Amino acid sequence: MKDELIWALAFDYPRVYIGTRRKYETASFQGIVCGDGWEPIVRWLSAAVERLIEQEPDDEREFYRCIEVRERFGGLEFYMNDATDEMVKLIKIATAESYKVCEFCGNPGSLRQDSRRGAKTLCDGCRGKIVVLPLAAAASVPRF
Ligand SMILES: [Zn+2]
Repeated sequence: MKDELIWALAFDYPRVYIGTRRKYETASFQGIVCGDGWEPIVRWLSAAVERLIEQEPDDEREFYRCIEVRERFGGLEFYMNDATDEMVKLIKIATAESYKVCEFCGNPGSLRQDSRRGAKTLCDGCRGKIVVLPLAAAASVPRF
């Protein structure tokens, strides 16, 4: 995902992405590694999780931080340091939704299997294009 989009998410949902601003010895924020087409799904999920974190006791909130967002086997994965049952339910909804949306352009898509690139959720237009995937190591982590 583009840096600007990641920074905006980290700014708008400071509890979810607290890992971008604080150093944790383990489970620090690893970035958002997926196409821009899924930004609305990630934003919807981040807003919902942010509200749930706000309902937790003050001293427990930072346990519910996001560690990493990425594409895996064609679907969206949203990893958290810890999550309540309700958060897990929302993450499952977002993942299910991601299988209907093109990861790269946000148009309606479906899961495509490809022997070279594995599984990807794409629209007809993006399917034929050569897609250069960002390397996980190159994903930038915003710092404030
Ligand atoms: Zn597309």
